[in-house]
Amino acid sequence: MSRDISGYIKNSVFATPSKTPSASSPPHLCSFVMDIDEAETSAGEEGAPTFDRAVDPPPIRRLDEAVVNRIAAGEVIQRPASAVKELVENSLDAGSTSVSVVIKDGGLKLIQVSDNGHGIRFEDLPILCERHTTSKLSAYEDLQTIKSMGFRGEALASMTYVGHVTVTTITEGQLHGYRVSYRDGVMEHEAKPCAAVKGTQIMVENLFYNMVARRKTLQNSNDDYPKIVDLISRFAIHNIFVSFSCRKHGANRADVHTASTSSRLDAIRTVYGISVARDLMEITVSDDSPARSIFKMDGFISNSNYIAKKTTMILFINDRLVECTALKRAIEVVYAATLPKASKPFIYMSINLPSEHVDVNIHPTKREVSLLNQENLIDTIQNAIESKLMNSNTTRTFQTQAISCSVASQFSARKEAENNISTSGTKSQKVPVHKMVRTDSRDPFGRLHAYWQSEPNSQQEKKTDLASVRNAIRSRRNPKELADLSSIHELLSEIDCNSHSGLLDIVKDCTYIGLADEVFALLQHNTHLYLVNVVNISKELMYQQVIRRFAHFNAIQLSEPAPLQDLLMMALKEEDLESPTNENDDLKQKIAEMNTELLKKKAEMLEEYFCINIDQQGNLTRLPVILDQHTPDMDRLPEFLLSLANDVDWENEKECFETVSAVLGNFYALHPPILPNPSGSGIQFYKKNMDKTTSVENVENRLANSGEVDVDHELLAEAETAWAQREWIIQHVLFPSMRLFLKPPKSMAQDGSFVQVASLEKLYKIFERC
Ligand code: ADP
Ligand code: MG
Repeated sequence: MSRDISGYIKNSVFATPSKTPSASSPPHLCSFVMDIDEAETSAGEEGAPTFDRAVDPPPIRRLDEAVVNRIAAGEVIQRPASAVKELVENSLDAGSTSVSVVIKDGGLKLIQVSDNGHGIRFEDLPILCERHTTSKLSAYEDLQTIKSMGFRGEALASMTYVGHVTVTTITEGQLHGYRVSYRDGVMEHEAKPCAAVKGTQIMVENLFYNMVARRKTLQNSNDDYPKIVDLISRFAIHNIFVSFSCRKHGANRADVHTASTSSRLDAIRTVYGISVARDLMEITVSDDSPARSIFKMDGFISNSNYIAKKTTMILFINDRLVECTALKRAIEVVYAATLPKASKPFIYMSINLPSEHVDVNIHPTKREVSLLNQENLIDTIQNAIESKLMNSNTTRTFQTQAISCSVASQFSARKEAENNISTSGTKSQKVPVHKMVRTDSRDPFGRLHAYWQSEPNSQQEKKTDLASVRNAIRSRRNPKELADLSSIHELLSEIDCNSHSGLLDIVKDCTYIGLADEVFALLQHNTHLYLVNVVNISKELMYQQVIRRFAHFNAIQLSEPAPLQDLLMMALKEEDLESPTNENDDLKQKIAEMNTELLKKKAEMLEEYFCINIDQQGNLTRLPVILDQHTPDMDRLPEFLLSLANDVDWENEKECFETVSAVLGNFYALHPPILPNPSGSGIQFYKKNMDKTTSVENVENRLANSGEVDVDHELLAEAETAWAQREWIIQHVLFPSMRLFLKPPKSMAQDGSFVQVASLEKLYKIFERC
């Protein structure tokens, strides 16, 4: 069904991301990891002993130094791109302002990196390519404050064990330079004087000439040149004062070519093109709380116009090009949940933190680092990106109002809470253990999702905020117009009178903990835990909001008009699934026609009061914004239209408004997505060519074993996105709005919408007895 209507909503504001964060392709540099195993295999092939199943233990031998070095080299230089990375980093460490790279045969035949840095002293040339010789580190402690990218003194040495290395270099004030070639860590001959331009040129030829397996795999796999271009592009947009070029040997044109500039955006434009640079927003975040994390981040992130199938994440931590899968995933989740388009982000991010908070020595190629308080840092960055995206989502046809207020008040309240925390030490009022409640989401213990709950002493301000939000909403209405529609006043006051005061207290002051299952969410209010039915409360909230916003809606514009007739047919067929034959189709056509006519007749009223626009041709073109930041699940559009035609009382004004509002409320409510939840038994739905009765374990086993089950990945990704988005909306849109606006009707106290599941005092008593 989601397929069928996608035609109408293609490119519309509703289009959902087709892939989930988890379905993203592996990060660019990740492929480096694969080769570590190969390094071991190939070393085995080339001389490491193989053991029989002998009874006596085999003797332990000391490996030849040459073998040791070659094994180590295979780890540091995993593929041509990793050699290029090491060479460029050396050039940058040498203070170069110009670095040019030439590549032949994807780097297997030739890698040549030339720079204009400080060069290498003549007297250092004999030990230049020995293992563990470096000019960047002398004592282990230096690692704590190291600013250079290199420090292991292994890269050049490694290259000489797996390739032929020639170095040409000249230092400041010399009349000529020197050229020397290396093999297995040592000079092949005395350094020869030669003409040279400022700096150093390093050539690596015939990489992996002595590692048959490695060379074969690299020859068979796609060649490394695109990876090298990508690598130089990344360096180029971070090191904007350095000019870079990268070209294939013999080619006239460079594939990356940048000049030194003072503008990062210019550099991005030059490297990634105008279409990327146009859709970027600058972002800066910092944190200086020793308890959480100390860092400063600045970067550029894509906005909602940017479209790409793959995430581009360019991350520098203290000027090192690194990867951080956790941060990447966290950002992808925010994008999937916040933006309506099916796009992966483009992220350039430079994070700086005190060097003593970064451990740079956790990976032989230095492509990973480990950070102090990494979780908090990721959390802060994730929040910053989220609010940046929310505030900049300009292409959507509606503007945020009420929710932006609530979000703003959350943020100001968060600030307040921070202040409170810093002063709370002075006025510590002891709370009995059994009365302690979860009030601060930054305390990671016992929370399901990060969520902020205001401190009790900020209640007063919270109430004023609430009042001002309500006033703002009221003032948006034209009182004169409303005065004429007494039925709306009646409905409004019915909502107020019918409100259950106990539930209202819970709603106003609860902390959202997380989703318990597909329908219920867990809330905490004082010392009690409640399960609330998300579908019921969202339905009610939407209904109340329709009444409150009556005749004053912002619009959601559909990118393509949706024909009522077809949608109604779809809904009628869906209702009548038991009879798969087409025998009643004529009848259904008639019903659909009549309903279309009815809705066309009511179009003027629907447009004026509810912002439901139906054009002359019988197409739906606009829908109302009921809760800012929230759009209804378009899979339910056919059902909504059928219900609009059939379930509305068109005779009496008050009942008419009430029933249209209820139908809208049901459409906008947060029902579970139509595609089954892929985590758990829902996975069955996504397998192709399989008997639908096969057990879940069976599918999972077969999936794990060989990918034997053919899964519809596109559909699966669509489902994962839909479920992730719903969860995000529940936490970030539904619950904050519910606190502000929902007046829970008395019926909710009995109908299972709110169920108390635990009371801390009672639990405490039980534990005391244990
Ligand atoms: P590391 O960078 O970890 O020190 P390398 O094996 O990459 O180890 O390099 C060894 C040393 O060679 C460096 O410490 C540096 O002094 C020198 N060196 C390498 N490449 C260059 C270069 N392009 N310009 C100047 N010096 C270089
Ligand atoms: Mg180095």
